[in-house]
Amino acid sequence: MTCRLGNLLRRRGVKKGDCVTIYMPPCPLAVAAMMACARIGAPHNVVFAGFSAEALAERIRDAQSSTVITANQGVRGGKVTELKKTVDAAVQSCPAVDQVFVAMRTENPVAMTARDVAMEEEMLKEDCVCEPAAMDSEDVLFLLYTSGSTGTPKGLVHTQAGYLLYAALTHKYVFSYRDGDVFGCVADIGWITGHSYSVYGPLANGGTTVLFESTPVYPDPGRYWEMVQRLKINQFYGAPTAIRLLLKYGDQWVHKYDRSSLRTLGSVGEPINTEAWEWYHRVVGEGRCPVVDTWWQTETGGICIAPKPSEPDAEIVPGMAMRPFFGIKPVLMDPEGKVLTSNDTSGALCIAQPWPGMARTIHNDHARFIETYCQPHPGYFFTGDGAYRSEEGYYQITGRLDDVINVSGHRIGTAEIEDVVNQSSSVAESAVIGYSHDIKGQGIYAFVVLKKDDEVQGEDLCQQLRNMVSKKIAKYACPDFIQIVQRLPKTRSGKIMRRVLRKVVERDVDGMGDLSTLEDPTAVEEIIRGHLELCGKPL
Ligand code: AMP
Repeated sequence: MTCRLGNLLRRRGVKKGDCVTIYMPPCPLAVAAMMACARIGAPHNVVFAGFSAEALAERIRDAQSSTVITANQGVRGGKVTELKKTVDAAVQSCPAVDQVFVAMRTENPVAMTARDVAMEEEMLKEDCVCEPAAMDSEDVLFLLYTSGSTGTPKGLVHTQAGYLLYAALTHKYVFSYRDGDVFGCVADIGWITGHSYSVYGPLANGGTTVLFESTPVYPDPGRYWEMVQRLKINQFYGAPTAIRLLLKYGDQWVHKYDRSSLRTLGSVGEPINTEAWEWYHRVVGEGRCPVVDTWWQTETGGICIAPKPSEPDAEIVPGMAMRPFFGIKPVLMDPEGKVLTSNDTSGALCIAQPWPGMARTIHNDHARFIETYCQPHPGYFFTGDGAYRSEEGYYQITGRLDDVINVSGHRIGTAEIEDVVNQSSSVAESAVIGYSHDIKGQGIYAFVVLKKDDEVQGEDLCQQLRNMVSKKIAKYACPDFIQIVQRLPKTRSGKIMRRVLRKVVERDVDGMGDLSTLEDPTAVEEIIRGHLELCGKPL
């Protein structure tokens, strides 16, 4: 499949170095598309198939892709999504795109234009041997867009040899992978976890990998464990948000299926709370499978901090990522940029030396790469996360230090949402924050100031704003709460004090700290009143 597709891409003019955008659900053809690109030396740019047409278009343009690979439709959790239609809408604003390969994930035909290529049909005409391109170790393997603290997503660049080595080693050692194992990472290929642990890590180790296209509760909350039984999965790797959701449905859905094949359970994407960790360990893993809480990010390419590898009976503390992987030197910094050397301390998590899997740059914007990761603490790679180092020297990740929030393990910059909300003709300005959410980890709360003479108000406006966010970014980025306020709390220099807004939503008025820099302290009282009206119960 990979070779035929590689040959097809070549025949249709895709050359070494050309970036190909892939907008597909996790399915064998999507993996073949990634592999085919890698084989002919064309960097791939996988865009999560839940992103809207506009978000996709922005990523296609930034990556300068002239080729897009998609599927007619996607199938997820009993719903059909119109992927080809979304691509059609996206490429209208991407003049450089001159061909769209369309795979048939379902049997439903879609309208094809002169620009579109029926992928499977054309692949059948190709030879199944495809000469691989010779690549330099530092050539680009792929771009992957992620959110930062500004409105523009950044295309992180991963390279050939270092990334592959790091994905393979972490896959092998963190999960105690052995030849013949069946590895079940349920992340979507549109995120870095899908890249490193559904595709590159397991395949580099010659493993069998499971692609998961659905949701944890479709057709019922036993879905994961039925799959474990049916496919005899040895390592299961998922997100805390799904674990928290399944926990609420009760143990019977887990007990119903044989999970004796499981040896290691992994968690990724956000901090895992102790209750979810304990349930995962005790109920899913019957207390016999180590749970590895793995900390890493799109930028790091692979797992950087995890309980394994370690001695077989070494301690694993619930909810802690614990130990650095080979070659990773974690460092905690105080706000003045001094390295904290003692234990039982918290600080900004940095990494003190480069490692093979690290992103090399941001596509088209190396200055932003330097500014984001290297300048905050010169000489160190700054992760954007905060961490605690325990008395024993173990690491626990405490969350983002910047204006990036994590919704169901998906990263989104508050500035990206604000940018969209501010585009409404009714909105003067807005401030978006994350709040602690039972299932999603974090939910999204928007404070919106309307233009003085605006007539659209209330629910209509809120719905309008939600639709805009869903259209411009994706559904997961829609605010759960939108509070209309007269003004936002600002410093005298005009900076929005998001800390104050977070404390309002957390109902921690005493914890607001120093408000003396606020331009107008009465704004806060007004916001508290509005919040209590909007959400009677604490969130
Ligand atoms: P992404 O690049 O989209 O994979 O998001 C990476 C971010 O998710 C990190 O910077 C962390 O804020 C968060 N994250 C990932 N894994 C963990 C973990 N095991 N514990 C806590 N936070 C995590």
